[in-house]
Amino acid sequence: MPAVIVYVAIALVLAGAATLVAALLPLARVIGELPAGRTRRTWYLQGALTIFFLVGYLAYAARLWGQDGNADSLVVSLVFFFGACFVWLNFTLAMRTALDVRRIALLEQESITDEVTGVYNRRYLQRRPQEAFESARRYEQPLTILLLDIDHFKRINDEHGHAVGDLALRHLGELCLNTVRATDLVARYGGEELMVIAPHTTVAQGVVLAERLRQRVESTPLVVHSEGHPRRELKFTLSVGVAALSASDASCGALFERADRALYRAKASGRNRVMTDSHPAAHGAGNPATRPAVKA
Ligand code: GH3
Ligand code: MG
Ligand code: MG
Repeated sequence: MPAVIVYVAIALVLAGAATLVAALLPLARVIGELPAGRTRRTWYLQGALTIFFLVGYLAYAARLWGQDGNADSLVVSLVFFFGACFVWLNFTLAMRTALDVRRIALLEQESITDEVTGVYNRRYLQRRPQEAFESARRYEQPLTILLLDIDHFKRINDEHGHAVGDLALRHLGELCLNTVRATDLVARYGGEELMVIAPHTTVAQGVVLAERLRQRVESTPLVVHSEGHPRRELKFTLSVGVAALSASDASCGALFERADRALYRAKASGRNRVMTDSHPAAHGAGNPATRPAVKA
């Protein structure tokens, strides 16, 4: 009977050792999900401790070999086995939690991203500018917004199709994201209108940014590769309205309205230009009547 007990005890310890090895897999997934830093280093420590335990399990199994088994060795082996199960369960739960967190973060990102342009969507625009507005007010910092609208966008849709229109919107989104600062926010305001919210930015700095955007859009054609057609370069231009937060603005809405007015002025005075709501200085190219805004 004691011989049977010792074999059972050894089998339990070896099963525990196998469970510890299995626990290293979810542990590796957890480490893979984490960015470099303290938490990841602590999980590495967990891994090292698990390997240390594993060696202990094997040493204990070797010690049991050839001994007379007794109830104590069986109890200890049971504790070893369930201890390993506990470790495996913990690591598996940690892995599932890490994967769930990633999925939630992805869903959250998707819920605030506009599919067509790749910038923030209107939903995000409903809450985030308010925060920027309140922060600018509270810390008496400048805040400037840019309202961007593609010139004669309907023509792009009409002449090249809606799918190419969508590509033009994505192109604009990418150019904006590559041009603004990391602290600026780019969002889709309407059909083919994007908004840039630039904290800590005066109206003069906002005009410089708007002009840079306008020039980049003008000088970076969209390259269209579509089946059955030769490679095409599609040029389009941008009008931009710029407005800065002023003491009289009671809400974000007031600021948006002024940017809208500035954009309207940019359109009315010939398109492909930057305008503020307050002063008439226009930046940009001349009358697009002499140079079509859309060239394919
Ligand atoms: P303007 O120079 O005055 O801005 O002329 P416009 O032709 O660009 O006029 P407007 O700004 O009113 O055009 C908006 C057009 O944008 C109308 C609509 O068909 C198109 N549009 C809106 N959303 C989308 C979209 O998601 N994809 C595509 N392809 N087109 C869109
Ligand atoms: Mg337009
Ligand atoms: Mg528009």
